[in-house]
Amino acid sequence: MSADPVAIARDLLRCPSVTPKEGGALSYLERVLGGAGFKVERVTFSEPGHDDVENFYARIGTAAPHLTFAGHTDVVPPGDESRWTHGPFSGDIADGVLYGRGAVDMKGGIACSVAATLDHLAAHGGKPKGSISFLITGDEEGVAVNGTPKLLKWTAERGEKFDHCVLGEPSNQKVLSDTIKIGRRGSQNGALVVTGKSGHVAYPQLADNPVRHIAAMMTALQSEPLDKGSANFDPSNLEFTSIDVGNKTVNLIPDEARARFNIRFNDCHTRASLRALLESRAAKAAGKAKWRFEWDASNADVFLTQPGPFTDLVSGAVQDITGNRPALSTTGGTSDARFIKDYCEVVEFGLVNTTMHSIDERVPTADLVTLTAIYRAVLEKYFKGR
Ligand SMILES: [Zn+2]
Repeated sequence: MSADPVAIARDLLRCPSVTPKEGGALSYLERVLGGAGFKVERVTFSEPGHDDVENFYARIGTAAPHLTFAGHTDVVPPGDESRWTHGPFSGDIADGVLYGRGAVDMKGGIACSVAATLDHLAAHGGKPKGSISFLITGDEEGVAVNGTPKLLKWTAERGEKFDHCVLGEPSNQKVLSDTIKIGRRGSQNGALVVTGKSGHVAYPQLADNPVRHIAAMMTALQSEPLDKGSANFDPSNLEFTSIDVGNKTVNLIPDEARARFNIRFNDCHTRASLRALLESRAAKAAGKAKWRFEWDASNADVFLTQPGPFTDLVSGAVQDITGNRPALSTTGGTSDARFIKDYCEVVEFGLVNTTMHSIDERVPTADLVTLTAIYRAVLEKYFKGR
C-alpha cells in the first residue's frame, strides 16, 4: 500500500504551528519518519531578543549521494478565523479540496515529499542507494534567525554533507508543473536622505528646500533601467516605497526629506556595484544639494543554481508525470534557498502558490497526489543506477 500524502497533509494542517510554535508538527514528522528508519534529531535554537525555535533534521542512509528535502512547518497566522470557509486548522476536505493554513505554504509540500520518500523506500527494500534527509525549520515565516541558517550550520558542524536539495515551497504560478525556481533576486533596502535649510515659504531665497532636490534625484534614480537583465533574470528594479518630510506646518520649508526604497537585483550586480551605481546617479542629479544614502544591512543576496544536470533531472520528473516542461524561474520574493545555496545545489518546486498566506488557503487533493508522484520520480532518477 502506498503512503497517502492527503492524510499526511491533513495531519500536519491540524497542528497549529504558527511561527514560532512547533504545534505538534515536528513531533508528527518524528513519528512518521522515525517509524520508517530515519535517524531523527530535534534541535532548539535561541538568540537573545528572539523566540526559541525548534528545528528538525532526519536522515536515512550514510552514503553519498545525499538528497535533502527542505522546508518549514511553521505557518503565518490565520487572520480572522470567522472568514474561513473551513477552520484554518480543521484539515477539512470539501469537493476534493483540502483547506487549512499551510495547505500550500508548505505543509502540503512536506507531506508530498514524505509520502514520496516512504514509497521510494518501500520499493527499494527500506533503504536508499545513498542518503535522503529532511531539513525542516520552524522559523521560515518569521525573522529566520533561529531557523534554516543555524540548522545548516549545525548540520555542517556535525559533518553532514548535502549534494542536492529540493525545497518544497509553492513555486508554481497557475498549474502544478509550470515553474521551478532556480534562484532569486537579491533584495536591498535603503533610504535617500537630502538635507537643505529650513525657512519661511514666502522667502524661499533664504532657504534651501530639500523637497525640490529629492524630487529631482528620485526622478534621476529611476530614469534609466539598472541593467538589461541577464540570461536567467529579469532586469533589476528600484521601487520607492515612501517619501517623508514629516512637516506639519503649511508655511515652513523643511530642512530634511527622506525617500525609502527597495531594490530587487539580479546577477548583473553585487550589492556593492549596485550601491556604487546609485551613488553615481545621485551625485550627478544632486546639484548643490547635500545628500546621503542609508543602506540597510541585508541578508538577501542574489543567487542562481546554474541550469544543468540537477535542474534537468527535476524538470524531467515534472515532465514525465504531467507532460509539461516547467520554466526555470528566478522571480518572486526570497526564501530559505538563499541560505541553502551556500551548502549545495538547490531548486524549489512545490505546489501552486495562488492561495498562500490568504484566507481559505487550500489545495486540490489531486495536486497532492501529483506532486507526490513528481517527487517520487525525482527520487527514482536521482538514485538510478547507483
Ligand atoms: Zn513558505
